[in-house]
Amino acid sequence: MLFSELARAFSEIEKTAGRLDMTDQLSSLFKKADEKQIDKTIYLCQGTLAPSHMGIDLGVGEKFAIEAIALSSGYERKKIERMYKEEGDLGLVAEKMAGNKRQMSLSGEKLTVAKVYDSLMKIAKSSGTGSQDVKIKLLADMLNSANATEAKYVVRLVLGKLRLGIGDPTILDSLSVMESGDKSLRVKIERAYNLCSDLGLVAKKFVANPKAIEKFEITPFSPIRPALAERLPTSEEIIEKIGKCAVEGKYDGLRMQVHKKGGRIEIFSRKLEVMTKMFPEIVQAVAGLGAKEIIFEGEALGYELKSGKYLSFQQTIQRKRKYGVEAMSKESPLRLFAFDLLFLEGKDYTTELYEKRRKELERVVKKGKNETVAVTEQIITEKPAELERFFQKCIAAGLEGVIAKDLGAPYVTGARKFAWIKLKRSYGALADTIDAVVCGYYLGKGARTEFDFGGLLVAVYNDELDRFETIARVGSGFSEEEMGDVEKLLSKIKLKEKPKGLQSKVKPDFWTELKYVVSVTADEITLSPMHTAGMVGETGYALRFPRMVAVREDKGPKEATTVNEIIELFEMQKRKR
Ligand code: AMP
Repeated sequence: MLFSELARAFSEIEKTAGRLDMTDQLSSLFKKADEKQIDKTIYLCQGTLAPSHMGIDLGVGEKFAIEAIALSSGYERKKIERMYKEEGDLGLVAEKMAGNKRQMSLSGEKLTVAKVYDSLMKIAKSSGTGSQDVKIKLLADMLNSANATEAKYVVRLVLGKLRLGIGDPTILDSLSVMESGDKSLRVKIERAYNLCSDLGLVAKKFVANPKAIEKFEITPFSPIRPALAERLPTSEEIIEKIGKCAVEGKYDGLRMQVHKKGGRIEIFSRKLEVMTKMFPEIVQAVAGLGAKEIIFEGEALGYELKSGKYLSFQQTIQRKRKYGVEAMSKESPLRLFAFDLLFLEGKDYTTELYEKRRKELERVVKKGKNETVAVTEQIITEKPAELERFFQKCIAAGLEGVIAKDLGAPYVTGARKFAWIKLKRSYGALADTIDAVVCGYYLGKGARTEFDFGGLLVAVYNDELDRFETIARVGSGFSEEEMGDVEKLLSKIKLKEKPKGLQSKVKPDFWTELKYVVSVTADEITLSPMHTAGMVGETGYALRFPRMVAVREDKGPKEATTVNEIIELFEMQKRKR
């Protein structure tokens, strides 16, 4: 497929606001790609080269892109820099310069999707001495063969700033529409996606043989999309909903999905990124478990050797950094509380019921005979009072609450279902904190002017419409130091316009990329004409007296609280009164 076809489709999608139109555009684009190109086409549509667990990041520095545009256009770097200042987008600069080249391109060769993908891959992978020149040359070569629209998107891709707002749900729908003309195949395609977290791979298999997608299997080192918990406000409602159940402590740390096959061990984060190197003590402990091939999940928590006390989420997350790993693993080692088994000795356990999964998990962990990996504390009960006592005991021990688990449910990949129900310490009238995506920020007034920061505009995720909707302006809960840090962080991802994929009626002083997730609490959820979360007619949901709790480095935008969860929390709040 020619890259010009992809660039044309990007151009159309950029102008499209509606999800249905986007799905139609994508399905006709996917139809043009054969089995060899469909994976590359899909990654490029999402502005990446591979799923996040492969750890291949696009995003060269702007300096390189400026050099490459200068080189291919024959204009001075200073002129390109000036234009960048005016336009605020190097993609637009490249577009202008492509129609305005001083030097004629020698190669009359047209760009193909495969060629652009391969060059971007080389750019992403080249490192060390001389790599800067290699990157500039590869990009300049592409720009030499590009027309204006192609140049715009090549540059945005290489900078990691494509931002078309195409989410996984839209791609899944589009693949189904491509094959059957409707969304009827979405569930089957999504199941395969949930088992490997790789949309490119799934699409490739699907295009090769649409029927075979039903037989898609788990393979170690391709992470499984994690199960999520629903919430209910009281023990009574939980027992009413699922009856006799297992109740486990809810540990507030880092979720880990551990894969082991023979001597190889990998740890994936909540966002399904590889973080094996950061946790040597866990890798060592997993090596000793009683299984040759296993995929299991757990929550890892820091603890102090001297006092034997668990650390808070804020302290635990300090371990998620690249330097001083060895020293940190000795100073504040983590303990991994295993809570679910997904795969064992070649067998898929996601379809097995909770009781069987737990029994096998306990057996494997017990054989490990080490203190670093343990199973979560658990009771089995059908009495609300007993559940409540266990909840209080967990809170007293410093945990966040409990998660009740349906004994008769399979592991629900990639979805929030009542197979798991969380009951947390309550925050005001809310049964839980809300994880919201920062989409803009305000400048300070009065006492805060010094920090130039006056609060965040935050949004929740509408997973049905695959878009973000605003819910609050969060101005309190930050220390002065935090305000300064946040302003510094956000000024790097400022945007001139509202980010694509966001619905908003309010306008902050600055828009930002949809990148950071923050936990916020509030007095209550109210109805408001200001915010677009779950908006019907003129009213949406909003947070009353929202306060910042923490930055959730472990969560990405799509892991934010959904609009449906907000509606549930709103209903729960009414019941509680
Ligand atoms: P939340 O992030 O508040 O939606 O709660 C769900 C999270 O709780 C999961 O993603 C896990 O990281 C964490 N968690 C802690 N303890 C458990 C447990 N025993 N079972 C399942 N998840 C747990």
